[in-house]
Amino acid sequence: MLSVTEARERILSCFQAAEEETLPLNDCANRILAADVPAPHDLPLFDNSSMDGFAVRSADASLLTLSVVADIPAGSVPMVALTRGQAARIMTGAQLPDGADAVIPVEDTDFNSREAGTSAPKTVSFTKNIMQGDNVRARGVDLHAGDVVLQKGRKLKPQDLGLLAMLGFANVKVHKKPRVALLSSGDELVEVDAVLTAGKIHDSNSYALAALMQQAGAEVIRLGVAKDTRSSVEGLLQQAVAQNVDLIVTSAGVSVGAFDFIKEVIESNGRLDFWRVNMRPGKPVVFGEYHGTPFIGLPGNPVSAFVGLEVFVRPTLEKLSGQLDGNRRTVKVRCDEEIESDGRESYLRARIRDENGVHFATLTGPQGSGNLLSLVQADALLIIPAGVKCVPVGQEVEAILL
Ligand code: AMP
Ligand code: MG
Repeated sequence: MLSVTEARERILSCFQAAEEETLPLNDCANRILAADVPAPHDLPLFDNSSMDGFAVRSADASLLTLSVVADIPAGSVPMVALTRGQAARIMTGAQLPDGADAVIPVEDTDFNSREAGTSAPKTVSFTKNIMQGDNVRARGVDLHAGDVVLQKGRKLKPQDLGLLAMLGFANVKVHKKPRVALLSSGDELVEVDAVLTAGKIHDSNSYALAALMQQAGAEVIRLGVAKDTRSSVEGLLQQAVAQNVDLIVTSAGVSVGAFDFIKEVIESNGRLDFWRVNMRPGKPVVFGEYHGTPFIGLPGNPVSAFVGLEVFVRPTLEKLSGQLDGNRRTVKVRCDEEIESDGRESYLRARIRDENGVHFATLTGPQGSGNLLSLVQADALLIIPAGVKCVPVGQEVEAILL
């Protein structure tokens, strides 16, 4: 049977990053950059003061009093060049006048104690020593024109948007969001607002899976629930294809039940690549294509579907969205209890406790694949490698943080 890694590689090899689009900066949070961004200009763009105070020449450090020859509020351009014995009042962020190479903070001058209103004084005295460069932010200290400040494939963070704005980018080239059609299947499923009659349950997978895929950057088109008939399954899959999506994701109907039609439908109208993976939960995972659209069929049990999505669909969406630093970070955790496994690669729900920087993991109770509460209570999925039957107390394993 295929290993998780082989299965994931087989899936990923079928996808490439979506086309790019240009969006207003405001719509770019969490989107993936489609091209490197070189700075169009230095930052800061001009020498400026980092304090409210007085721009001076450090060569005048020995003088006791300077005459104030200009007043430079933020946003204005200094009209003077300082010569010996001269200073200019200056506000934080304002451009330094020619000749000045340091700023004395107002707190370190005699002006601080005067009741001066808003107008600048005629002279200013200071006590502290002045060194060249004091309280000056020199042109280009942060970055230079041409520096690549953000790299292609990066998921844009709020601070990135701030930097792009500093550099004057009103629009940014990002990859289009992957579009995914999502459907559930099963005669037992009813909508979340329907009254439960005998034998029925609410369709919960489509909510958890849609949210997880949106979180991974996808646009999700929810197509509802297919009945356990060939024609109903085909009907919804055709709708999915008509939506021109990058990927179809389904849950349930992929095991060996008498009414599990999905595999059969994929096989007869497209291509079935694989339908089982050596993992737990979630062994029956189907990958293929339906009328040319890539297809991933997850098992129906809510935890199996979630794990399958995390392990196979999330990396696919990351690749589709152009993310280059996508690989979901795993951390090392130490098991607080002995864990039995059946030799398949297992994903177990656990709570994480931090002790002096070490993560300790305790299972959140019963690991049945229908028990969603124990997933809700978990902070992480422990990964027990294939071939391992027992993990002793204190042993380290990898975990995906949820
Ligand atoms: P199946 O893969 O169709 O055999 O389904 C396996 C289990 O998952 C059954 O107990 C189903 O009732 C349950 N199940 C399937 N689809 C969903 C869903 N969308 N929401 C909640 N449970 C589901
Ligand atoms: Mg079913």
